[in-house]
Amino acid sequence: MNKIQMVDLKGQYASIKEVVNTSIQEVIDNTSFINGPKVKEFQTNLESYLGVKHVIPCANGTDALQIAMMGLGLKPGDEVITADFTFAATVEVIALLGLTPVLVDVDSDKFNIDIAAIKRAITPKTKAIVPVHLFGQCANMDAIMELAKAHNLYVIEDNAQAIGATYTSKNGSKAKAGTIGHVASTSFFPSKNLGCYGDGGAIFTNDDELAHTIRGIVNHGMYKRYHHDVVGVNSRLDSIQAAVLDAKLPKLDAYNKARQSAARKYNAAFKNHNNIITPKAGNGCETICDNCDCHVFHQYTLKIQNADRDALVAHLQSKDIPCGVYYPIPLHKQKAYQNERYNDADFKVTNALIDQVISLPMHTELDDDQIDFITSSVLDFLSK
Ligand SMILES: *Cc1c(COP(=O)(O)O)cnc(C)c1O
Repeated sequence: MNKIQMVDLKGQYASIKEVVNTSIQEVIDNTSFINGPKVKEFQTNLESYLGVKHVIPCANGTDALQIAMMGLGLKPGDEVITADFTFAATVEVIALLGLTPVLVDVDSDKFNIDIAAIKRAITPKTKAIVPVHLFGQCANMDAIMELAKAHNLYVIEDNAQAIGATYTSKNGSKAKAGTIGHVASTSFFPSKNLGCYGDGGAIFTNDDELAHTIRGIVNHGMYKRYHHDVVGVNSRLDSIQAAVLDAKLPKLDAYNKARQSAARKYNAAFKNHNNIITPKAGNGCETICDNCDCHVFHQYTLKIQNADRDALVAHLQSKDIPCGVYYPIPLHKQKAYQNERYNDADFKVTNALIDQVISLPMHTELDDDQIDFITSSVLDFLSK
């Protein structure tokens, strides 16, 4: 059995080496390192894959969030509601722009932002909601878009973990994650579902005017060369990263299927176990159905109950099985983001999750022997 990795980028590269190398070599041959044709090609291909009017590539997923907020013209003092249980990037850019982050609890089944908690947090100063499509599936976008409409708020989807996932609305219409709100951000960090070989990110929107504004912001606020109409930033996807992404984009669906297939095997092994709650998939699907991309498993995350999660982590590590605790500390308890307005009792779910969650190895190259070894190691520990 090959050594188990949390994410096996080496194994994945081995199967796409030629196409990736050729694509990178083209950039080097043209010396078109910045804003070269590869960037435009990838942008166009991603727009058609997602079914979105505008993809604006940028330097990373954190910049993408920041630039989306700048593009919407959010101003210091504006309140932005986001989830307490997520990676810090989301709340960081809100704070950096002088906006007021308002963290709220998540739901305990899907780990996504809780709708009732959003409702309670809305004030006259609220300007936007940032749902994070955590671990590979969309937040409840029907309810979020309804709330946004009723209160005149923007919705910025943080889609760093769910690229390629499909969201099915109550009315049956389907849309790719990141194409439902007013604007969305994503990250192409190497370990994401669509990752490059360095840093990368993008902003998506169907709004022509907003897309125009954002294209200027990513380029020093220039709409005409050397005319700086707004304060911008320098945030570019470099051409070599675009070349990697353009080579990998045609594989994204197959990669997500491979993740779903691993998740299905994990689910089967852990079914009906007293100490394990397997991840719930969205869109009301109870299982991971064959034709549904409602969950693309950026992470495969279990909840461990009535057992010692930390001892399980140590047990797996002793068997050379990597695993992760995403996330170990709720954002409202982080030094940088503490705020008197928060009442710890309002974060019941997040506070419980940080002691329960464990993410198992999840990537495109997991084989059956590895999955068997991982699941039997988990089950062995829990049977003791
Ligand atoms: C990875 C990630 C980001 C940040 O992306 P970078 O490209 O690393 O800046 C933002 N939000 C979430 C939810 C992420 O998982």
